Amino acid sequence: MDDTETWETVCRVCGYDDDDVFWADGWPTAEICSCCGNESDVGDESVMGLRTYRGYWVGQGAPWRSPSAERRHKSRGWDLLSQLANIPEQWR
Ligand SMILES: [Zn+2]
Repeated sequence: MDDTETWETVCRVCGYDDDDVFWADGWPTAEICSCCGNESDVGDESVMGLRTYRGYWVGQGAPWRSPSAERRHKSRGWDLLSQLANIPEQWR
């Protein structure tokens, strides 16, 4: 693996980062976020698309896609707003 590749492990929609790679070198990996359920390239290829998806997701009460990830993170004091603050600036 080439070290110069850019891996995005932070979900563009919700800021979740559990070392899953969502985008590699600008290409979507079709990884599905354990938190917001977004699949890279489906909801997040444009900032407008992202904001729509994010707004809908938060409006539903920010439901986790993976109950096991939810338990793991909530037991460590997971906080939605802190996670949203991880979203890279260009995707906010
Ligand atoms: Zn997400």
